[in-house]
Amino acid sequence: MTSSAKNSAWYQSSCHIKTSLWGKTAGDLPELSPLSQDISVDVAVVGAGFCGLSTALHLAEQGVNVAVVDAHEPGWGASGRNGGQVIPGLKILPDEMVERFGSERGEQIATTAGSAPGLVFDLIDRYKIDCDLRRTGWFQLAKGDHGRVTTDSHVDQWGQRGVSVRTLRKDEIEPRIGTTAYASGLIDDRGGNLHPLKYARGLAAACLSLGVQIYPKTPATAVQHNSKHWQVTTENGTISAETVVVCTNGYTGTMLPGLANSIVPVLTGVVATDPLSDNLKSKILPERQGAADTQRLLSWFGIDAEDRLLFGSRINTQKEVIHEDNFGFGLSRMREIFPEVDIKTVQHLWTGRVALTLDHVPHIHKLAEGLYSGLGFNGRGVAMGTMFGKILAAHCTDKQGDDFLPLTPMPKIPFNRFRNQGITIALTWKRMMDTLRP
Ligand SMILES: Cc1cc2nc3c(=O)[nH]c(=O)nc-3n(C[C@H](O)[C@H](O)[C@H](O)COP(=O)(O)OP(=O)(O)OC[C@H]3O[C@@H](n4cnc5c(N)ncnc54)[C@H](O)[C@@H]3O)c2cc1C
Repeated sequence: MTSSAKNSAWYQSSCHIKTSLWGKTAGDLPELSPLSQDISVDVAVVGAGFCGLSTALHLAEQGVNVAVVDAHEPGWGASGRNGGQVIPGLKILPDEMVERFGSERGEQIATTAGSAPGLVFDLIDRYKIDCDLRRTGWFQLAKGDHGRVTTDSHVDQWGQRGVSVRTLRKDEIEPRIGTTAYASGLIDDRGGNLHPLKYARGLAAACLSLGVQIYPKTPATAVQHNSKHWQVTTENGTISAETVVVCTNGYTGTMLPGLANSIVPVLTGVVATDPLSDNLKSKILPERQGAADTQRLLSWFGIDAEDRLLFGSRINTQKEVIHEDNFGFGLSRMREIFPEVDIKTVQHLWTGRVALTLDHVPHIHKLAEGLYSGLGFNGRGVAMGTMFGKILAAHCTDKQGDDFLPLTPMPKIPFNRFRNQGITIALTWKRMMDTLRP
């Protein structure tokens, strides 16, 4: 870390999208103004991340009149801060989907979740979104036997379903990843990677091109039903709508009592280096896949379009204050995996909230007639958040069948008041197990 980076204004400020590498390299957001009057639309969407924007886009494609509000701006949340890895499938594997949801529905869920990267690629293609997309596949890497069980199961279960996925042998790890820190892994050809904020802004531009109204700096403070329709309240205007969709994921606040309790938001830290030297550029991920490991406290990494190394992992705090000390865990993991990368070349630090669910699958809620929410992507929302938008749009227009994750009422996480203590205990346990059984 250089002293100029340490002393810069953003360094110790509270986290904002502009402090991230993506914020600095995304180009301009289309000119937008906050909501300043009362309006009426068919569907109002709260939250302009991948999920909310994809919902709006899929509705607008069917001629539905949509308005989107965001407390900040499109892509401000996890969508503009993540690793950009377009990951196929859910956290749970297809056999477990079948076990939980029955054979027919479980297989349909697997097919839809597995095809989510294809939806992302199709939207990028159709709307000509310039977001540094690479369709190079996705690596999952294991250190020891525990991780190997996960990658082997992935290869077996998806392979049986005709997916192009295969095991990486130990001798392939160093030439393809640029490290000896892992013993085995897999490559899933359905995946890819992109610049997430460019993708979010591209989705916003696509929405605008179809007539969607997008209002930044417009926090929704209440959603209520009167005798005729839903009303979303904001500081300087209201939105009347037949249907409201809430897509606030890890940034869900108190607007709908109980919704925040349905997920566990966990802060994740990301660091990015200066562009790598020519030697490291061709050594680390030479084919430019994104990679994540199977550790319980997982690390992930990738290379951006200007050859910077990005590295993400758990952070030592749940407070959104950008300070180097809080990134110690990730920096030491990065040093362990890529010892040749000089820590002084780290120029960017930022954080974002991942929304975890206790059952490891995202949730689609029908909170009331005409009030929906989709959230809890468990760190896999680039593809799944986009797919959820398509599914939520289908629910809004009564076109969604019984072939994806079921609509559920709002669940509660027991003892949610103690979740910060719970997160700390869980992280300590995971760290210990990663050392004992990698
Ligand atoms: C550091 C990090 C790395 C990640 N890496 C990956 C990855 O490589 N691959 C992957 O698939 N997934 C990854 N994820 C997960 C992924 O980023 C998320 O699952 C996805 O972006 C969620 O999108 P979303 O639209 O649901 O929510 P968000 O993008 O978080 O958007 C929620 C929006 O709601 C707005 N909002 C909240 N409350 C209100 C309100 N009351 N009124 C108006 N607006 C409101 C916020 O301002 C925010 O813009 C990562 C996440 C993080 C944090």
